[in-house]
Amino acid sequence: MTRIAFIGLGNMGGPMAANLATAGHEVHVFDLVPAAIAAAVAAGARAATDAAAAVAGAEVVISMLPASRHVEALYLGDDGLLARIPSGALVVDCSTIAPAAARKVAEAAAARGLRMIDAPVSGGTAGAQAGTLTFIVGGSVEALDRARPLLEAMGRNIFHMGEAGAGQVAKLCNNMALGVIMAATGEALALGVAHGLDPKALSQMMAVSTSRSWATEVCNPWPGVLEAAPASRGYSGGFGNDLMLKDLGLAAEAAMAAGTPVPLGELARNLYAFNSAAGNGGLDFSSVVTLGQRRD
Ligand code: NAD
Repeated sequence: MTRIAFIGLGNMGGPMAANLATAGHEVHVFDLVPAAIAAAVAAGARAATDAAAAVAGAEVVISMLPASRHVEALYLGDDGLLARIPSGALVVDCSTIAPAAARKVAEAAAARGLRMIDAPVSGGTAGAQAGTLTFIVGGSVEALDRARPLLEAMGRNIFHMGEAGAGQVAKLCNNMALGVIMAATGEALALGVAHGLDPKALSQMMAVSTSRSWATEVCNPWPGVLEAAPASRGYSGGFGNDLMLKDLGLAAEAAMAAGTPVPLGELARNLYAFNSAAGNGGLDFSSVVTLGQRRD
């Protein structure tokens, strides 16, 4: 049993904290939204009044926040958590953030004698609930080994990509490809439907042909093709368009930093920006398929 502080109980963090509690760990939780804390408590976690109270006595601190600025604000500065986390504790940030921000926080943690890994995830809300996430890790091998039993309570696959920030770089590579593939899949389905094809039959063919992907098989963007996909429930739940937009922005920054061309990633970033401007920012990112559809 490990005493864990878990900060950030949204679509992903909520079920992840619940899985740690179910595995028998003592999980002290905090979120800015009281209802999120209440849901975690109902799943076996213990409520903390604030983040500082959550980390008191913690052996491992886990965070699952939206973006770089939230993670930096939580950990850094005179009032930041790094100054309050017990020495010897391990910090695991599972948020998807800029690699440079991950390195900055990891360096600040090391300066305080704390070990830290970046461990962004893949697998979506369904994976978070089922405990089948993939963890994509940057940091030292020994810090990862300490975290491993906890990651295994929340996920199925763990990939160690290198030193601090490497997990974030790999995560951005994955999501950039995903953003492009989802947009391309939606475009292909829209073309088929415009020619009178049944989107279900077209998807079934594509799912066993050369364009097969998670976008056709698991999160199909066309309503009614897959009952469990966000598209079949008005694009609610799932992975928000604006989170994909954030990740593609991070990928673009990383590409500029390395001088690497990512023309398709940049095009996809603009498609998700249009989708956000169309009022779909809070919907699942597969709603990008609705952009080019005729309304008559
Ligand atoms: P979310 O917006 O549902 O949850 C974020 C939570 O953090 C919210 O409950 C918010 O209140 C809380 N929060 C923000 N600042 C806080 C603070 N200072 N202290 C305490 N709580 C704070 O987001 P999510 O979907 O859970 O995603 C979290 C991260 O995981 C993001 O970086 C996202 O890119 C990544 N991610 C999401 C998915 C997905 O399918 N949703 C999949 C993989 C990775």
